[in-house]
Amino acid sequence: MDRELKERIEILEGDITKIEVDAVVNAANTSLLGGGGVDGAIHRAAGPELLAETRKIGGCPTGEARVTKGYRLPAKWVIHTVGPIWSGGNRNEDEFLASCYKNSLKAATQIGAVTVAFPSISTGAYRFPLERAVDIALRETKSFLQANQSIDKVIFVCFGSQAYNKYEEVLKKVFN
Ligand code: ADP
Repeated sequence: MDRELKERIEILEGDITKIEVDAVVNAANTSLLGGGGVDGAIHRAAGPELLAETRKIGGCPTGEARVTKGYRLPAKWVIHTVGPIWSGGNRNEDEFLASCYKNSLKAATQIGAVTVAFPSISTGAYRFPLERAVDIALRETKSFLQANQSIDKVIFVCFGSQAYNKYEEVLKKVFN
């Protein structure tokens, strides 16, 4: 049973703006008005219509998720989620990050997305320790997929080999 579940999780190295999935998740900030890192890359690739739509939404609290169209991206939808800024681990950073994955996957089911791609939320400018973040990402995704059959595949798109290797290592641990 776990083997089957494991096949619904894929680790890829690459650029999330190029991935052909129903929905890509964006590591946004609370303003939803774009920024650096993966957020900037998604806005550039989607085009100015994305910013026009996120302006109308008016922001998103940490740990929650908001959906827009994907515009010029290969993905039909963008799920914007706001990860916690790491500040030592005593400000509920773990719980907020777990909520990002739960709420993004829940949003994916609400729009009927069957394939979903995630970047490594909070591990760039927000400085969340990589291994700890990857552990949360994979455990939350595993338990969500266990309870939900409508999402067929979740792809973790790693920007660089260091992140890729860490996901592969933690994936083995999570599925022991
Ligand atoms: P945060 O502010 O949530 O930390 P960042 O965008 O700074 O978000 O970083 C999140 C992760 O996204 C980092 O691991 C970074 O290397 C990665 N990243 C940056 N650009 C891309 C991209 N085009 N595709 C996939 N991942 C990316």
